[in-house]
Amino acid sequence: MTQRMQANEESIKQLRCKLEHLTNELSKTTEYIQLLEIQDEIKLKNDNIDVEPEHEIIELLQKQNTISHEIILVKKRIQKLSAKTILKIELLILPVVIILLFFVATNYVIQPSSEGDPSIKTRYTIENLQGSTTDDYKYWNVASNTPLVVNIINNADVSDQNIQAVKNAITSTETVSDGSSQANYFKGWQGAVQTIPDTKHYIPERFNIIQSSSSEGQIVITLSTIKDGNGYSGITKTIVDGNQILKAFITIYDADKLTNVQIESIVRHEFGHALGLPHTSNTSDLMYDSITTNHSYISVCDTKALQKLYNEVKPSEGFCNDE
Ligand SMILES: [Zn+2]
Repeated sequence: MTQRMQANEESIKQLRCKLEHLTNELSKTTEYIQLLEIQDEIKLKNDNIDVEPEHEIIELLQKQNTISHEIILVKKRIQKLSAKTILKIELLILPVVIILLFFVATNYVIQPSSEGDPSIKTRYTIENLQGSTTDDYKYWNVASNTPLVVNIINNADVSDQNIQAVKNAITSTETVSDGSSQANYFKGWQGAVQTIPDTKHYIPERFNIIQSSSSEGQIVITLSTIKDGNGYSGITKTIVDGNQILKAFITIYDADKLTNVQIESIVRHEFGHALGLPHTSNTSDLMYDSITTNHSYISVCDTKALQKLYNEVKPSEGFCNDE
């Protein structure tokens, strides 16, 4: 082993230590945020109005973001250094490997791919300004033709194509036919919403997408490398005042491990929540709480549910069931 390779291995070791430290730090921060959230809930239950934890939680969320970002950087450096080391070793042992592979190849059995696409679990909560959760249906109350600002925070350092998938789920006006008679599906919410006749409250149909690391924007989509402990792929947390949605936070977990199609489907589902839609009990609809990639487009009954919502008619639990 050359001296440089040894030096590389030494740096990799150090980086791995740092990675472990950062990962610990991240889980501690996450736990602390959860603890604060639980404490808030208890305080609210005891009618303690003197609750002002928002600030601390926001700071902690920022810390969480910073650590996640650092973790990505460290992982990248490890990858880079490992690649260098491996390349050198490979050059030394490559001829041997090739000869070995030649003999071993015939014994390989190709593993069958796992059946189907595992369904994607999502979670949805609505929180009022007092921090307590409510299950009433809510809508945006913005002036006609005012675009909603949607901020994509790319903490998972995903590719431009992945970001494009996020944008497609929001702004695409493309339709998809399922082959049957008139059923058309929409790829993006902008296309879907534009087909809805005027409603009592204006349904946002224009979206101004920005990419900023701060949490500005009315809808904030965070692409995270964090794996959710409960196996959720996406959650939407909507902050409301009365019936009015003030801000929606969408988090996509494990975003660096998802395909374009998966990201697009999850964002399409979560964005439905961000616009105010609840879950449906219809398993084959986009707004069912576990989405499968087979049913991940916006249906006409999803847009009808949205139309009801913005006319102040609460869509029934089983919306999209009767079509
Ligand atoms: Zn959901």
